[in-house]
Amino acid sequence: MSTTSKIEHASLLDKQFISNQWVPSNGTRLLDVMNPYREERIAQVTAGDASDVDAAVTAAQQAQPDWQALGGTARANYLDGFADALEARREALMTLSATNNGKPLVEAEIDLEDAIACYRYYAKQAKALDARQGELVSVEMEGVEARTYHDPVGVVGLIAPWNFPLVTSAWKLAPALAAGCTAVLKPSEVTPLPERVLAEIALEIGLPAGVLNLLNGDGEGIGAPLTNHPDVDKISFTGSNRVGEAVMQAASARTASVSLELGGKSPILVMEDADPEQAADWVMAGIYFNAGQICSATSRLLVHEDVAEALYTALGERVDALTLGDPLAEGTDLGPLTSAKQRDAVQRYLDLAEQEGLTVVRDTTHRTLPTQGYFLAPTLYRDVPVESRLWKEEIFGPVLCARSVSSEAEAIQLANDSSFGLAATVISGDPERAKRIGRQLKAGSIWYNSEQLVLPETAWGGFKRSGIGRELGPWGLSAYLEVKHVIGPK
Ligand code: NAD
Repeated sequence: MSTTSKIEHASLLDKQFISNQWVPSNGTRLLDVMNPYREERIAQVTAGDASDVDAAVTAAQQAQPDWQALGGTARANYLDGFADALEARREALMTLSATNNGKPLVEAEIDLEDAIACYRYYAKQAKALDARQGELVSVEMEGVEARTYHDPVGVVGLIAPWNFPLVTSAWKLAPALAAGCTAVLKPSEVTPLPERVLAEIALEIGLPAGVLNLLNGDGEGIGAPLTNHPDVDKISFTGSNRVGEAVMQAASARTASVSLELGGKSPILVMEDADPEQAADWVMAGIYFNAGQICSATSRLLVHEDVAEALYTALGERVDALTLGDPLAEGTDLGPLTSAKQRDAVQRYLDLAEQEGLTVVRDTTHRTLPTQGYFLAPTLYRDVPVESRLWKEEIFGPVLCARSVSSEAEAIQLANDSSFGLAATVISGDPERAKRIGRQLKAGSIWYNSEQLVLPETAWGGFKRSGIGRELGPWGLSAYLEVKHVIGPK
């Protein structure tokens, strides 16, 4: 079922959602929300402040014991309710997400499906949690009974970025609520519109007051006070390394738990036995989806020298065939960058590439950009030196850096030579070989002969500087649970 939008943001943007009420924000600053294709302001939000955080945390604290006491099976009904209500708003949310984020509709639909699947998955996990409570532990000592319980962490602060609205928040909110935690959710100030629907849904499905509180604002007004709040038991953060490190530092002052999903510079390895045409499709999907604004973007291509020229040719043809334009128009492959700030940040890397004299396969000289929108041309450099900042740093835009290798060992060594470890892809004509190579890569998600499959049952998270902890799967639920043992004489 699809309905047209009941989402009336314009009247709500000066308000925060606390304890199931839209209340005026105490903040005074206004933040512009943009349509990155039209370069037009589509809304303004009042940036909340620390007193909004206080009110939301208090509401979450008051709601938490009853929410926990409800049990997993009852909580599951609400999670299914979120999934159903998102489904019912499918078209409206796709349009909203494409408009605020700049992603083509087809990608906005994938996001929505991921979010719905996530709420449904954690509904099942919430039910299963009830059966896991009080499990007997086998102990060696005689006459002793030990049982394991899984208690919610408590009140959690959930901080999301702008690149996958609805998805990154689902990955946090669904397991947190399944576990019995109550939440204060802060979407990115760049894309605050899609997540506001969660408040609307909370009211529609009768979620108890205070279980979900949603605050609009930026890092200074909401993010930092939330992270520093003494009554927030855990922070789950997705975003940049710079902010992630600040979050971890703030949480350490009160030994609060953190989960961090941070940046990446993921490799894609194309071996000499790969079909270059097929490989080119997977390489393209790994870097130009969402205009390259993907934490798991496979932005470092390591291609065996035997197939390098054929692959560059195939990639060049595919880049030329990409249609840049209106995210809402059918046939658009690549939308604008999500903000002028991000467009400028990526442009600085393109300027640097020119100064460094990098070898261009495709860049802005190969196409005319749309006359409006924060567009950058899909760009491909080859033979990029490993010392180049473009090779080492997360660019977060439609920029692929490639170099050739002469052996499997060299490919693995270069793939692992990064301070990040979020993801990697291996492409080989021999799936067993691809899997074997994948096992030697230091990253949380390894795809072989595939595009980037992200399923709610499998874990998401990084090695090294890409973060701490895992989202999705049972690990995503564990991130919001404390293990408790009750032990005594039989
Ligand atoms: P960002 O770090 O600028 O902002 C992320 C969130 O943190 C926003 O909601 C922002 O308002 C908030 N924030 C800013 N300052 C804060 C502070 N001092 N304290 C608390 N919160 C604060 O990141 P971004 O630009 O929104 O997102 C892009 C980054 O996110 C990229 O580095 C990308 O790799 C990363 N990312 C990672 C994953 C993953 O799963 N590993 C997924 C998506 C994005």
